Amino acid sequence: MTPTIPLSAAARRTGEPSISVLMQRALAEPRLISLAAGFVDQASLPVAAASTTIADLLADPIEARRALQYGTTRGDLLFRSRLVDRLEREEHAEPGAFAAILPRVVVTTGSQQLLYLVAEALLDPGDIVIVEEPTYFVFLGLLATRGAVAVGVPTDAGGLRLDALEATLRDLEASGRLDRVKLIYTISEHGNPSGLSLAPGRRGALVALAEEYSKQQQIFILEDAAYRGLTFSGDEPASVWGRDEAGRTVILARTFSKTFSPGVKTGFGVLPEGLVGPVLALKTNHDFGSSHFHQQFLDRAMADGAYDRQIARLVAVYRRKRDVVLGALDEHLGPLEREGSVSWTRPNGGIYVWLTLPEGLDAGPDGPLFDRCVERGVLYVPGAYAFPAEGAARGRSNHIRLCYGAPGEAELAEGVARLAAALADCLDPVA
Ligand code: PMP
Repeated sequence: MTPTIPLSAAARRTGEPSISVLMQRALAEPRLISLAAGFVDQASLPVAAASTTIADLLADPIEARRALQYGTTRGDLLFRSRLVDRLEREEHAEPGAFAAILPRVVVTTGSQQLLYLVAEALLDPGDIVIVEEPTYFVFLGLLATRGAVAVGVPTDAGGLRLDALEATLRDLEASGRLDRVKLIYTISEHGNPSGLSLAPGRRGALVALAEEYSKQQQIFILEDAAYRGLTFSGDEPASVWGRDEAGRTVILARTFSKTFSPGVKTGFGVLPEGLVGPVLALKTNHDFGSSHFHQQFLDRAMADGAYDRQIARLVAVYRRKRDVVLGALDEHLGPLEREGSVSWTRPNGGIYVWLTLPEGLDAGPDGPLFDRCVERGVLYVPGAYAFPAEGAARGRSNHIRLCYGAPGEAELAEGVARLAAALADCLDPVA
């Protein structure tokens, strides 16, 4: 008899990532246009900047050896100082205004690691995390690993609805569960999967609400600003983190994956005081520091302007791609939109459009639309993955996420045309 494999409870709670099933399908079917994967634009990846910056770094033997050596768990001091300077500029603060946060800035292996570390530092099985409906489905996966309960709060065009959040907090308090609420997770800029941002007027109020309900213990806001910087028009508002003047409530998660290169897999967090020690201790167990070499590389790319030039380039690339997708949606689904049965978001940044299909149409992986799309050669992410088990949107399956990051403009237009044709097959099966 083969002995059983005695997996931990955490491993048993961790299912196969929903998206990996989709990825396998995409790889097996090369003619498929994937509007599913959250990949970045391939053609604009900063090859030239990387090659000169890395060559310069390696040409200096002392600096090169430093970069090729281990760094610290918290991250390189000069790199972190540069991140603080950049935050001051982004938040329109005076130079030096954020000097005191330097010890609270932790460099991580992408922002994904920070999300996990925060969850690991705060969550025991049964603890509650409030999330937006819809939310980043990979985050729901890591909450499942921690055994935490995700409670959904509805969103509208301005992101998380604060009235609904307050009602949820009140209900949790009334049912004696407030002491299990540890985090409120929000994707503040051009959210994944919605493409929408948290309205500037809600940001300070969100901090105030979290503080109001932090009675016996702190309820943190985890602000995932993965798409910050990729705004197509107008100024970006101050972050939620920027509204937390006491620095007690908001955990800021940032990454250079979407603004520069996911292959560099580097991000950072700004943590409230009491979380720095626990997160660093846990990170020591993970890896005792993210790639020191990549930090030096990014630091140089920021110093010589390559990083900012890349952002400017990406904004132009993604703005055009957004226009192609929205144009194709208007062309193929405009009549259904005018009739009120279909709608979609019109993002001002990032790489996602969230499409709402007729009520009752099952766009899930086992539903008719998904199969028809695969037959017609296009892939999307079923929106059902982005809804937590607890909340008003539970089980809702008539949404899909489209990502315009990786495909070229012609492929995007063709992908939307195929999707519309597959939708027509489902809505009018006899035709
Ligand atoms: N948060 C959000 C909302 C994301 O979309 C992603 C990447 N898809 C991440 C975090 C993590 O990205 P990374 O670890 O590459 O920084």
